[in-house]
Amino acid sequence: MQPQMHYATWAEVDLGAIAGNVRFFRKTTQRAVMAVVKANAYGHGAAPVARAALEAGASWLAVARAGEALELREAGLAAPILILGYTSPARWMELIRAGVSLTVWSEAQIVEMAAAGRQAGKPAHLHLKVDTGMSRLGTEPEQAPLLAEKIRKLEGVLFEGIFTHFARADEADPAPTDAQSTRFRKVVEALEHAGMRPPWVHASNSAGTLRRPEAWYDLVRVGIAMYGLEPSRACPLPETIRPALAWKSSLAMVKTLPPGRGISYGHVYTTTRDERIGTIPVGYADGFRRIEGNVVLVRGRRVPVIGRVTMDQIMVQLDGVPEAQVGDVVVLIGRQQEECISAEEVAERWGTINYEVTSGLAARVPRLYIGP
Ligand SMILES: *Cc1c(COP(=O)(O)O)cnc(C)c1O
Repeated sequence: MQPQMHYATWAEVDLGAIAGNVRFFRKTTQRAVMAVVKANAYGHGAAPVARAALEAGASWLAVARAGEALELREAGLAAPILILGYTSPARWMELIRAGVSLTVWSEAQIVEMAAAGRQAGKPAHLHLKVDTGMSRLGTEPEQAPLLAEKIRKLEGVLFEGIFTHFARADEADPAPTDAQSTRFRKVVEALEHAGMRPPWVHASNSAGTLRRPEAWYDLVRVGIAMYGLEPSRACPLPETIRPALAWKSSLAMVKTLPPGRGISYGHVYTTTRDERIGTIPVGYADGFRRIEGNVVLVRGRRVPVIGRVTMDQIMVQLDGVPEAQVGDVVVLIGRQQEECISAEEVAERWGTINYEVTSGLAARVPRLYIGP
């Protein structure tokens, strides 16, 4: 199929790259891999990515919201799923029944979840979150053994796991992560001494997985790197990791305009001579940021986006590609011939990080899957 004949703009997701990246982390860590597929798999499409990751050897899935977990169950995925953060109590029963593991960090939550588990006729599988320095969610490390004991005592809950999350594992300076890692290790050792160690101890996000073997424990929670995207500029990826996502569109119109023509809203760009201008059907409602200085690829060459980005369309200056024609595929993220625009490059232009670029890809952009 030629996508440009069906869609104005679309994303191509290479499931072979996802699978290869998962296999890389399985092999290098020799630990269970939890594929983090929250936020629609960072924009890549939750169910297809989850399926590819599981087939490649991942054994857990992680999401952020109740709806994301249930969507995976509805897609027929039976693997263990952990909701990494807050879940509204109104959703506990259906999640427990669906066999979705939940994160807790307070005694009140544990007591209420036990009641929900008893009512569901099935114990709630709990992962205790410990705040070792992210200061987002989690119990203080000193409280963790008490909460673990509480979970173990109560009927209706099962102590399945304990985890923490690194705030700075992607930075050059290892000291802040050393401190977090040590705090967490002490908690795990205290549980071991008390005979309360749960089956799943975990700490590492992608950066931790790449850099902190001492924090691999029983499983690694790999998000950004599974998509072939680097955790940060200071935390590059090994060469074998490949990006999975490309974002494309095509030229809808190509014309030569005389000097003095204002282009797009506000006429912030005006032609100064005869100029070749192309119109591309992608805009900020697709997730293409409304800023100056965007660049896209046409026929393997970089061309500047000119004038304002509109809701559904952008214009480009095609003087550098005189042979450009209506119907030519345009690459917003990805490779075309010898040129490549990475999600990281786009993130730099947009003043953000690659995570926000791909997870900001709008729902109306169809995802097409290639690979295994
Ligand atoms: C999102 C998230 C991850 C994955 O982080 P990456 O940097 O994308 O690997 C892991 N653990 C928790 C708790 C998260 O919220």
